[in-house]
Amino acid sequence: MKDETCIFCKIAGGEIPSATLYEDETFRVILDLGPASRGHALILPKDHYADLCALDEQVASKALGLAARIGAAMKKALKCDGFNLVQNNGTAAGQTVFHFHIHVIPRYEGGPQIVSWEPGTASSEELARLAEEIGAAL
Ligand code: 5GP
Ligand code: ZN
Repeated sequence: MKDETCIFCKIAGGEIPSATLYEDETFRVILDLGPASRGHALILPKDHYADLCALDEQVASKALGLAARIGAAMKKALKCDGFNLVQNNGTAAGQTVFHFHIHVIPRYEGGPQIVSWEPGTASSEELARLAEEIGAAL
């Protein structure tokens, strides 16, 4: 299903041109217009899913394998030293386009820290409580 108001539906469907590095019946993989690093790509399903929680399970299972292939191709073609997968869900998490996508971000030794945080602290009691709370909601 497509969403007529969604820019990523239009890009994934080829209605809006994009720098496409891979396409099959389920996905289009494009280069991000505002790259975090050289070669930053976005994996877009051709059907519209707002986020990971809305994603079809079969599409989800194919997406991770495709991400591995794209990352491996980046290492070969761009000589990057690694790559990050980033997948934002919800405004609070930084999602700005509400069509599920996976960022594949090449990383270069000595390059800027792109995906990192200062580790916080938590007691083992707190961790146990949280695990219980989240587990009960599954
Ligand atoms: P989000 O913040 O939702 O996880 O990521 C959206 C990403 O889409 C951003 O990195 C942004 O640069 C990229 N983006 C937004 N609009 C377009 C577009 O029209 N074309 C391309 N290629 N990338 C886009
Ligand atoms: Zn869409």
